[in-house]
Amino acid sequence: MKDFCILSDFDGTISKKDGLYTFISQYAQGDWQTIEQNWADGKIDSKECLIEEFKLIPNLSEELIAKFIETLSIDEYFKDFYDYILERQIDFYVVSDGIDYFINGILKKYGLNDIKIISNHGEFNGNDFTITFPNDNPDCVNNAGTCKCAILNNLRKKYKKIYYIGDGVSDYCVADKADVLFAKSRLAAFCQTKNIKYTKYVSFKDIFEFFMCKGQRGKGVKG
Ligand SMILES: [Mg+2]
Ligand SMILES: [Zn+2]
Repeated sequence: MKDFCILSDFDGTISKKDGLYTFISQYAQGDWQTIEQNWADGKIDSKECLIEEFKLIPNLSEELIAKFIETLSIDEYFKDFYDYILERQIDFYVVSDGIDYFINGILKKYGLNDIKIISNHGEFNGNDFTITFPNDNPDCVNNAGTCKCAILNNLRKKYKKIYYIGDGVSDYCVADKADVLFAKSRLAAFCQTKNIKYTKYVSFKDIFEFFMCKGQRGKGVKG
């Protein structure tokens, strides 16, 4: 059993914008807003939402996504943070209700090639883009494509302590299950209303500093 691992959301946490939302809003033709609203109202789950929205994108291709990925950027401090994590051999996972095809594309742009990603899966067969949900959990209250609380529960078998970093709705189900939660934006507001303990952060600069201090305190100190 290892001491701890760090899990992080991707969209809005590592990447600055919500990549899929931006992609859909730029390229979907037709009434994607109603689909999005139905998801926000809980009428459809995020799986159906994703699949239906992608149907509204004409001429979807690898080139189109590549061109789009060029416009996205990540938190300025994430790379420094991740270099530190690698150097210290700390286990780190991206857990996202987005699509691995996009996440990999964005990370690769920054030379980040071997981060472990647990998310929904997308792949091209010709110009057909198929989305599947290998981490689906019908029992989860979040009803997301990738259930983050199930992933965390699973990782509990391997780690004594789990740190979680997030910003939004897809992190709600995991918020009260992490040992240490870093939250901003909607997730922080959610924690306040639910009385869930969290540490506020602005960027990965704060996260980086936290783990650097923890590292300097040495192995004898818990925290
Ligand atoms: Mg997010
Ligand atoms: Zn869940």
